[in-house]
Amino acid sequence: MVRTHVAKVLKDAQPGDTVKVGGWVRTRRDSKQGFSFVELNDGSCFSSIQVVVDADTPGYDSIKDVTTGSCVSINGEVKDSPGKGQRVELHATELVLHGTADGDTYPLQKKRHSFEFLREIAHLRPRTNTFGAITRVRNAASAAVHEFFQDRGFYYIQTPVITTSDCEGAGQMFSVTTLNLERIAEVQTKLDYAQDFFGKRAALTVSGQLEAEIFACGTGDCYTFGPTFRAENSNTTRHLAEFWMIEPEMPFYELTDNMDLAEKFVQHVINRVLERCAEDMEFFNLRIDKTVLETLRNITENEFIRLPYTEAVDILQKSGQKFEYPVEWGHDLQSEHERFLTEQHFKQPVILFDYPRTIKPFYMRCNDDGKTVRAMDVLVPRIGEIIGGSQREERLDVLESRMKECGLEPEEYWWYVDLRRYGTVPHSGFGLGFERLIQLMTGMQNIRDCIPFPRVPKSADF
Ligand code: ATP
Ligand code: MN
Repeated sequence: MVRTHVAKVLKDAQPGDTVKVGGWVRTRRDSKQGFSFVELNDGSCFSSIQVVVDADTPGYDSIKDVTTGSCVSINGEVKDSPGKGQRVELHATELVLHGTADGDTYPLQKKRHSFEFLREIAHLRPRTNTFGAITRVRNAASAAVHEFFQDRGFYYIQTPVITTSDCEGAGQMFSVTTLNLERIAEVQTKLDYAQDFFGKRAALTVSGQLEAEIFACGTGDCYTFGPTFRAENSNTTRHLAEFWMIEPEMPFYELTDNMDLAEKFVQHVINRVLERCAEDMEFFNLRIDKTVLETLRNITENEFIRLPYTEAVDILQKSGQKFEYPVEWGHDLQSEHERFLTEQHFKQPVILFDYPRTIKPFYMRCNDDGKTVRAMDVLVPRIGEIIGGSQREERLDVLESRMKECGLEPEEYWWYVDLRRYGTVPHSGFGLGFERLIQLMTGMQNIRDCIPFPRVPKSADF
């Protein structure tokens, strides 16, 4: 018999059906009457299935080794469950013990473990309630991302992970090299990138935007959904060195069209996750953050506030709030400022736009005031910035002078500049950090718990 997911059994199976399930034992209780209860979880849903194993069931001789963490498969008959909280249970007709888990050493015993501890056993944490739920939410959110764009006729494109365009304007990069660094350190004082694999300095990408723009200006609406890397030494609860970013890019979109899309996009993914992971979301609301469902409903049911950066600075300066960092026009807003606006002042998601040009990258469209660019950041409660985007500079002369102003050589980006030389078009796009969205939806405190294998300063295990 082929194995069925526990989720399907709990949802669809009828009394009298025979099924085979397999998974990891959460608990076992032995009754005095000579049978045992086994709680089996296979990760397909939040709930475990309750299995009743009689003493005369084939395989019962191994029941003493069916301990927490062991792996078993069970053939059985579905019956109505007399217990609370479950529709059906399984009465075993055969039990096979595949792998034992020594109770003295298995790290995941019944008690609650801290998330810090669980990070050290990232190979076992998918077996916990929390990480099972996060896995399902990530999966449903990924599907919802593709669904959102596919339904709108956007193409999913794959931009390179290795790049040789320096300073894409978004943070420190990790070098990619085949040079023998140890040898060089001994005998040379300088690296010669001409000798390197690509013949010049290469790095892991910090964004797929520039390449996405190539496709937006060729085949139209598109999006990327891939890994990005930033070597920032920022030990915060919102930064990873490796994270996944979704970057749509649209020709003929102005900044307001971009905002509309970003708002609908965030709302769509949240709505889908609420629908498809209802049981997991109940768990997050009960055990992780009691306000998470309320926060998400607030996001999906209200329009996002839209506010120029300059007005936000004014609100912050007049707020009377004590901030660690002072607020000053021309400086980037800190997370504390972003959170004040979205959590306390507006109590709603906020899209700030028209940022000072001095704090934003070269590709953002310059406004006529000479001081600001068509940038937008979407701010949400608990996280702060979840999306950064802009209308792109489509005017050749303005782009070239902006690049020089930012200390970049237009020749080095000749292909990017060419898009303005030949058939230029007003266009816009944004980047959403997938793990920040997962953090928002689950209520998890630390972004390191929102990705299967976090990469952060001094840690890249598993
Ligand atoms: P922040 O100011 O929060 O560090 P940023 O302005 O450097 O972010 P962008 O370059 O605008 O980030 O990247 C777009 C989006 O990618 C951000 O809005 C955020 O959701 C996400 N993001 C950026 N850096 C990280 C990171 N180190 N870890 C996880 N997500 C990130
Ligand atoms: Mn940003």
